[in-house]
Amino acid sequence: MESSVITQVQKEDVQVSPKTGQVSRSALKQPRSCNIFKALFCCLQAQDGPKPPTPLPPPSQQALLETQENGTVVKQHEADLLPEVEAQDQGKICVVIDLDETLVHSSFKPISNADFIVPVEIEGTTHQVYVLKRPYVDEFLQRMGELFECVLFTASLAKYADPVTDLLDQCGVFRTRLFRESCVFHQGCYVKDLSRLGRDLHKTLILDNSPASYIFHPNNAVPVVSWFDDVDDAELLNLLPVFEELSQADNVYTRLDQLRGH
Ligand SMILES: [Mg+2]
Repeated sequence: MESSVITQVQKEDVQVSPKTGQVSRSALKQPRSCNIFKALFCCLQAQDGPKPPTPLPPPSQQALLETQENGTVVKQHEADLLPEVEAQDQGKICVVIDLDETLVHSSFKPISNADFIVPVEIEGTTHQVYVLKRPYVDEFLQRMGELFECVLFTASLAKYADPVTDLLDQCGVFRTRLFRESCVFHQGCYVKDLSRLGRDLHKTLILDNSPASYIFHPNNAVPVVSWFDDVDDAELLNLLPVFEELSQADNVYTRLDQLRGH
């Protein structure tokens, strides 16, 4: 079976409240069948049916132990996913931003008004991927780049997501791009383990349409409804005042609690 390239949720499965962050169970459903083309898009979860994920400590918080020849047990340290903070981002909060259904929606089916068409080679055949930009994405990224250290983190494959991001992020807002191989595969989901970034978690946020992506760190999340093609969508525009507030926070947990009304 062809491996999926784009990690997407299915339109009919998504019910996430941006106000409360509450996710209906249907949002975590596994897309049913993966024929040869569906397999390119789907597979947010594994093939053996829906399994709502259960919060667990991130694997990187579990001891990685190795016994040396002399019998000494030593703790292994994984390399951080992010490089050192650049000079212009010192003191800024790090925001991890998802791609599919957060900033864009992509399809292998032709879209007449596509913003980009990106060729992607899959098993020796070149396929055209049609990409729609979410309304206000340009304004959103420009401001986010001024306020935060921005990191693209997608569960899709680099051969699709990298050229899409080249076209989307012409101002170079994203300091680093992380792809599927940087995710942790946990209970059939690609999870973005923020503790592996190499940033202070009190100064780290994640913006993602899929709650399964941040199941290890739900308290760092700014939820956003999935976007497919609604030209009247204004989520990104409406989120900017929220991020303006958050950019001033010494502790994102405290500020997010305040914003949630706790
Ligand atoms: Mg997504």
